[in-house]
Amino acid sequence: MKKALITGIHGQDGSYLAKFLLEKGYNIKGVLRENELKNLFRHNYLNIKDKIHYSTVNLLNEKEVELLIKDYQPDEIYNLAAISSVGISFEYPEKTINNNNKIIMNILKSLRKINKDLKLYQAASSEMYGNPPELPVTLNTPLKPISPYGISKSFGYRAVNKYRNLYNIFAVNGILFNHESFLRDEKYFVKKLIKQSLEIKDRKREKLFLGNLNVKRDFGYSPDYIKSMWKMLQNREPKNYIVCSGESISLENIVDYVLKKLNLKKNVVEIKKSLYRPAEIKNVYGDNTKAKTELGWKYNKSFYDILDILIEEERKYLK
Ligand code: NDP
Repeated sequence: MKKALITGIHGQDGSYLAKFLLEKGYNIKGVLRENELKNLFRHNYLNIKDKIHYSTVNLLNEKEVELLIKDYQPDEIYNLAAISSVGISFEYPEKTINNNNKIIMNILKSLRKINKDLKLYQAASSEMYGNPPELPVTLNTPLKPISPYGISKSFGYRAVNKYRNLYNIFAVNGILFNHESFLRDEKYFVKKLIKQSLEIKDRKREKLFLGNLNVKRDFGYSPDYIKSMWKMLQNREPKNYIVCSGESISLENIVDYVLKKLNLKKNVVEIKKSLYRPAEIKNVYGDNTKAKTELGWKYNKSFYDILDILIEEERKYLK
């Protein structure tokens, strides 16, 4: 039985990845924050809570991380723990950078000491590229992050590459573009839009307060994207991959689609300048060819398909 260690296991991706790996017969240990243990709503929803061994070691403590890996001896580590919101990273830049950088460094340093046969997946991000000079983003696009979150992910990306090259560790970066699901936290745009629009429909709310809709992103579906993480660790060579849908869609189009689907008028939306970010990526999409051809990762959903799935799932849940 293979063993996987997942940090950030109660986040969106950690939850779907845990379910996917359990179905593959893995033994799973998941690291989360102490307060998350009280409310494992994502794991309850996916019915996986009793199948996971939980740990609350402090990922910011080097010794604790080293001991955890030594004791559990996983075959694969998926480092998904991060302060993952771009918006929040502007509010707490130092905390975001310290947290995200320290976690990956503690893991890399432990791997160097312990066992080079272990495989490590690091959750990198399209936010590392800022406003790219050319689209689509490829592995050759320069890193020019414009948010504290993007800066932290660029650091992790480079650290993983360095440790792989210098110490021959099997460590890879999955550069995932935005991906959504029912289990996304409500502070993120798509989840907030769908949940709050349904609440307006049910007369539990009157307005939807949104920020800058004049930006485009490459959006995908988390339950499909997490499969690429596993595939990267089954690869013979440790290599980085871009995982994305390959096209971008504007936030304005997403709002229009959801409101139309729910028969709501556009005047329920109120744009708030206070929700604008200090610096904004205007448009970004990536090239997923390598992930598809080399890893055999399959993906062909349009974002409108995903919006339909998410509206349905949210509607069922709210009933
Ligand atoms: P989530 O925010 O849902 O999950 C990340 C989890 O990590 C949260 O539960 C968070 O807890 C936890 N965490 C953060 N810091 C610590 C810490 N010091 N100790 C323990 N737990 C911690 O993100 P996703 O699941 O959506 O994303 C998974 C990873 O992929 C993240 O690293 C993210 O940055 C990256 N990524 C995500 C993309 C997306 O579109 N979803 C796109 C590209 C990359 P808390 O909420 O309490 O901070």
